[in-house]
Amino acid sequence: MKQVPTPTIDGGGVQAIGSEVATAKIGPNAVTQLINALDAAGLQPAAIAIFAEAGTRDWLTDPPTAMVDERPVAMLHQTLRKLMPPQQSAAILADAGRRTADYILANRIPKPAQFVLKLLPAPLAARMLVSAISAHAWTFAGSGRFSGRTGKSVTFEITANPLCAGEHSDSQVCVWHAAVFQRLFQVLVSPNTRVVETSCGARGDDCCRFVADWKSIPDAANIYAKRRSHHLAGNSETLSAR
Ligand SMILES: [Zn+2]
Repeated sequence: MKQVPTPTIDGGGVQAIGSEVATAKIGPNAVTQLINALDAAGLQPAAIAIFAEAGTRDWLTDPPTAMVDERPVAMLHQTLRKLMPPQQSAAILADAGRRTADYILANRIPKPAQFVLKLLPAPLAARMLVSAISAHAWTFAGSGRFSGRTGKSVTFEITANPLCAGEHSDSQVCVWHAAVFQRLFQVLVSPNTRVVETSCGARGDDCCRFVADWKSIPDAANIYAKRRSHHLAGNSETLSAR
């Protein structure tokens, strides 16, 4: 039997090295794709103000290309949330997350593995994707403790998520993480996937919890299947009437 290629995923940094974990670094896409999202929205002046306030202005001219200390990245994400209206910061973080996932799809997941995942039934593809994400979670979660579970739905948890460490909010704030997971699932598991952060460390919850669900939105394929069976049933009635 042919070996199914195992997808490899990381946040876009150098490949995992054990010692990197101790230094609590995170993939550079958490910075570079934020710059790209602010650029795409025409918000360069706001970007300068946000990066300056976060003490990371150098990154605008010299963006990180390797794994980067998670603390200034957290300061950057939190400063963006502090300075921008909530809807605008959520839109920018969502776009940055989508762009991060697109970078991962283009550069970090071998094409044969993507091909296999797209062919598999969604629950099986989800199981393999969760396993691949978990294997490289430190590039998304830094010093946070990551776990992924597959059951009726898929749940990711990041305990002590560094990107919202010390932040206080009435609502969930980790839009960037949710958008990364959602885009990966939409491309590799089901285009109907929605990822929602249901608990958040910034809100005082025990962890940041993300639920990926592709079954709540009617699956187009299933609609067609229903129509087909309805059509067939109609035909058989016609036949039996003859
Ligand atoms: Zn959170």
